[in-house]
Amino acid sequence: MMFRRFAVPFVGVAASLSLVVPPGNAQATLDSQISTGTLSHGGPAKVPVAEGYGGAVSTVDLDASKAALSILRQGGNAMDAAVAGAATLGVTEPYSAGLAGGGFLVYYDARRHRVSTIDGREKAPQAMTETSFQENGAPIPFADAVTSGLSVGVPGSVAQWELALRRYGTISLKEALKPAADVAANGFTVDQTFYDQTAQNAARFADFTSTAALYLPNGAPPPVGSTFRNPDLAATYRELGRRGGEWLYEGRLGDELVATVKAPPVRPGSTRVVRPGLMQTSDLRAYRALEREPSKVVYNGMEVYGMAPPSSGGSTVGEALNILEALPKVGLHEYLEASRLAFADRNVFVGDPGYVNVPLKELLSDGFAKERACLIGDFAMPHPASAGQPDGSYTGCQFEGNSITPQATPGDAAKADQADEKPEGPETTHLVVADRWGNVAAYNITIEQTGGSGIVVPGRGFLLNNELTDFSFGPAPGDPNLPAPGKRPRSSMAPTIILKNGRPLLAVGSPGGATIITTVLQILVNRYEFGMSLPDALFAPRASQRNTAATQVEQAFLDRYGPELTAKGHTLTVAPGPPVGEIGAATGLEFLPHGKIQAVAERTRRGGGSALVVSPRP
Ligand code: GLU
Repeated sequence: MMFRRFAVPFVGVAASLSLVVPPGNAQATLDSQISTGTLSHGGPAKVPVAEGYGGAVSTVDLDASKAALSILRQGGNAMDAAVAGAATLGVTEPYSAGLAGGGFLVYYDARRHRVSTIDGREKAPQAMTETSFQENGAPIPFADAVTSGLSVGVPGSVAQWELALRRYGTISLKEALKPAADVAANGFTVDQTFYDQTAQNAARFADFTSTAALYLPNGAPPPVGSTFRNPDLAATYRELGRRGGEWLYEGRLGDELVATVKAPPVRPGSTRVVRPGLMQTSDLRAYRALEREPSKVVYNGMEVYGMAPPSSGGSTVGEALNILEALPKVGLHEYLEASRLAFADRNVFVGDPGYVNVPLKELLSDGFAKERACLIGDFAMPHPASAGQPDGSYTGCQFEGNSITPQATPGDAAKADQADEKPEGPETTHLVVADRWGNVAAYNITIEQTGGSGIVVPGRGFLLNNELTDFSFGPAPGDPNLPAPGKRPRSSMAPTIILKNGRPLLAVGSPGGATIITTVLQILVNRYEFGMSLPDALFAPRASQRNTAATQVEQAFLDRYGPELTAKGHTLTVAPGPPVGEIGAATGLEFLPHGKIQAVAERTRRGGGSALVVSPRP
């Protein structure tokens, strides 16, 4: 492996990893890890919390965490490891991530002391218009769009990986893809989550010859405990490593991808209506990943950096934090109300900044936050909340209690409501990495729906995304998120890095569609308003209020806080999933005193994640 920078030979460390058991749950956690076989001797084990030095990783998956850790151990930096981890998630979490998907990456560069972001969001093809998701003036059924060529966006992940490595990494794309190619070739063990996600998708996978051949061997999902190999994907990664992104964006792989989008390989005899896509090879040639300035708010003396538009992650998390900071007290009621208001604003104001004038500075201003905070009283505000006026002219607390003065046009609230009717499942994934130099990556990757479009490119081993379903289908005049040629659909992905006194303190992110925003926000509220440790903040039961009539919650949240919040006028409903009652699958890390790093993954959600550190010295 060649390192362009930091050519310091790496001093090896013990192979075993520390297990930190959250307070109060010690025996239960150990028991469950033993009973699920996740504890192993002599090698990395799948544990949700690890502490140590020299770098750390957290992903939803042990193989991906190991791949990223191996890069760190060989002297690679956080960006190298983030790309390697993402590519490996494309193998082991292929229904959430892959080379034909997209993502957003927030990076703290320790040498330059600055946070930057890379936008690898998929784009609409040039032939797409505002009405492409409509027929006879009405939106096409959402489910039809999900499984179609029409919803396949021009993929961004490979361009993002190349830009990320060129700008901040030390290894080549080929080196970054090697661990992923090895996992694809050698196989990974099918777990319950992989099985369940395959089973949920089985009906549509069966309708595409290429997808059925890969993911329904013998006509059924591969059984739990079996070894799943993807030799086509191993070959694709190896060829991509040799040829570079040009192979996709200007070469044969791109030709094959476009041919599949235009004529999906529907099984003979299938009755599924599969709309073809609009992508051309010229769309691939025109694709660029972009470096963008991060969103930033100062919250409780910390700098919170996130993903700017076309993601609404940074603006919505940031606005809600500003609102909370403006309030005299913060409890769960205030968390839900701040989130409600921030969603009302994001739905009306945020879209691709290349096409829409997003008032980001005002959305993240203290003046706007104070005006919005004045709407929060002791009871849940009437639904839906209207969007505010982030116009630079703020009145302070002229609105008292729950009296909500309409501040936007009447149509805005209705639009806000509509925007979140789309089901939010556990799709997408997020990983965090820190290295021994103090670089930090928070990286969301996605192919949108769990299973993307359901269409595998024949012979290449990867699924196409269906990211363009993140557009509003319309008709909705004035909606900032309507499709347009070359436009990037609005995202909710919210990879977040927090600095304190100019040094990295914490990184966090999650999958889950629009619930990504509330999951990240709630973890930060738990950590910084309620004083929980990061593991407790991440494991705590979740609630998601997105300017919808009912707040979606996990059952444990309902059990614990339902009476208190219902008395304040909130309507709570168990999140539909799948899995039912689960919100998000977060990963995070925190820098503890004396250079120690704590990496944290889910304990139970989505089958539990994998936190690893380079050196587990106490
Ligand atoms: N497409 C979603 C977004 O960008 C992410 C996928 C998901 O988690 O639903 O917000």
